[in-house]
Amino acid sequence: MTEFEKLGLDNRIIEAIQKLGFENPTPIQQQAIPQLLNDKRDLIGLAQTGTGKTAAFGLPLIHFTDFSKKHTQALIICPTRELCLQITRDLTNYSSEYENANIVAIYGGASIENQIREINKGAQIIVATPGRMVDMIERGRVKLHMVDTVVLDEADEMLNMGFKEDLDHILSETPEEKNTWLFSATMPVEVSRISNNYMNNPIHITVGKQNQGAENIEHIYYVVHARDKYAALKRIADFNPEIFGIVFCRTRIETQEIAEKLIKDGYNADSLHGDLSQQQRDNVMKRYRNKTLQMLVATDVAARGIDVNNVTHVINYNLPDDPEVYTHRSGRTARAGRSGVSLAIVNLKEIGKIREIEKKIGKQFTKEKLPDGVQVCEKQLINLINKIQVAEVNENEIDKFMPMALEMLSGLNKEELIKRVLSEEFNRFLEYYRNAPDLNVEDRGAKDRNQSSKGRFNTQATGRLFINLGEMDGMNQELFRKYAAQVTNLDPFEFKRINIKNTFTFFDVSPEKAEYVHECFQFKKFKGRKLRIDHSESAQSSSSSGKQSGSSNKRSYGNNDNEKNKFYKKSSTSNRSKENTSKKSHPPRRPSYFE
Ligand code: AMP
Repeated sequence: MTEFEKLGLDNRIIEAIQKLGFENPTPIQQQAIPQLLNDKRDLIGLAQTGTGKTAAFGLPLIHFTDFSKKHTQALIICPTRELCLQITRDLTNYSSEYENANIVAIYGGASIENQIREINKGAQIIVATPGRMVDMIERGRVKLHMVDTVVLDEADEMLNMGFKEDLDHILSETPEEKNTWLFSATMPVEVSRISNNYMNNPIHITVGKQNQGAENIEHIYYVVHARDKYAALKRIADFNPEIFGIVFCRTRIETQEIAEKLIKDGYNADSLHGDLSQQQRDNVMKRYRNKTLQMLVATDVAARGIDVNNVTHVINYNLPDDPEVYTHRSGRTARAGRSGVSLAIVNLKEIGKIREIEKKIGKQFTKEKLPDGVQVCEKQLINLINKIQVAEVNENEIDKFMPMALEMLSGLNKEELIKRVLSEEFNRFLEYYRNAPDLNVEDRGAKDRNQSSKGRFNTQATGRLFINLGEMDGMNQELFRKYAAQVTNLDPFEFKRINIKNTFTFFDVSPEKAEYVHECFQFKKFKGRKLRIDHSESAQSSSSSGKQSGSSNKRSYGNNDNEKNKFYKKSSTSNRSKENTSKKSHPPRRPSYFE
């Protein structure tokens, strides 16, 4: 019997979630589902987004719904159109094994007529944003007198957004003896008021500590001059070629400006803010969701309820005044048990805000240094090599050109050929970053507080290690963490800044544990292959001498530091004449993972 089967849910739900690949209930599901199934009553769930709370209320809701009837039995109210659509999608998936299930989304900015038509077909569950729901009620288009469960999702956000009166209005239309399930990331007085007014002896469930960000989010800040914030943003993006991020700005104008600059500078970016029409916003979100957009530049309001998995970085271009807002921002990453990074680009004056947020979320930020040009170039180069390693070759198409290509390139040996192939793609980067200024500003207070302030770019100080295990071995961040924890008996979250490449991985442990971790792995084999672990600086030089334990030559990673520097300098020199004439006003179009 699986963990999900033990919860007591209807078989059709179990079947549906198995198809979705859910294996084990998340902690909030583990707590909420059996309680609600055994004793259906009011519930208050304190949980962040990304904890699996939609299924925590959605699965019991479906369990209790009689889909052979057409009347509306459950109503879910949530703050944004995005979230409304997301919940509707999720619940539709969870109820896919029921005939006649009709879960209808009601939200502003789309045709009300179509939504009325959907309701008229018989909607057993309605998912609605407050404003449009009030509109429906006032037009007499929804009948709520037989609703037996109301879910208020992200209640704190709804109140923040000024939906208090709408909520009162909607709730007054529903029967007295219904159950109310309220979910909120935080519990301000206004939310307590709703629970006092509308709820009866609720079950309380808390996942994680109140007001805390998810455990697996790293909080990092960079200190720069205010005028260098945009350059810092670009450097972060360039240092993370596979970034899939959300950049938060404070105003619509700033959001628009930053997005426009990024687009002009060749990044896959776009903006999301309130001045866009609904159709424009849908378009942007569609592109972001399917990852044709790499960076979404957004205001807080527009980004509320965005539920996109795999967001790697949340970037606070400007910090919010309210620490609660920071929690919501950072909660857009590290969803569904994944890990993520929340970065803040601050000037000296804004460091006080970092301290306030630290107090509120009970976690410390790490001060890090922005990478310099060489570090960015190195990272891009590794990315490029990885892409070459996994590039799909269309044998049929390329075969006919091969004799000609071989003939034309016959004068070059392997090393020269590799250098030229890499330079062709890479020179623009080298050029842009040659003599790139140091953007970091010294923040003395942080140095004292934080021993690792030299940051992720000083490998020895942070206990950064290299291991010859990578994507080719089926590794991703979660698996790597689990595996490393298993080998070392340390907590999975001791392993930080895990940067998984095709054949190898860099990761950090605290400097005092580096030696221990090194020892644990030293004589370890992975699927019969001897592992090699090293401090990241020396690792690369020994790998170039051909001592890699992997047998496939795809595994060899022949760049020691000297070679890298040689490459960097040589390529730069060989293109000097071109460089001198070219403009350096903005960075090159980036070779992108998503292109
Ligand atoms: P939520 O907190 O409801 O926004 O959920 C975040 C993400 O986790 C969604 O994409 C869900 O599909 C996913 N999810 C929820 N429950 C589980 C589970 N038990 N196993 C795997 N993924 C889940």
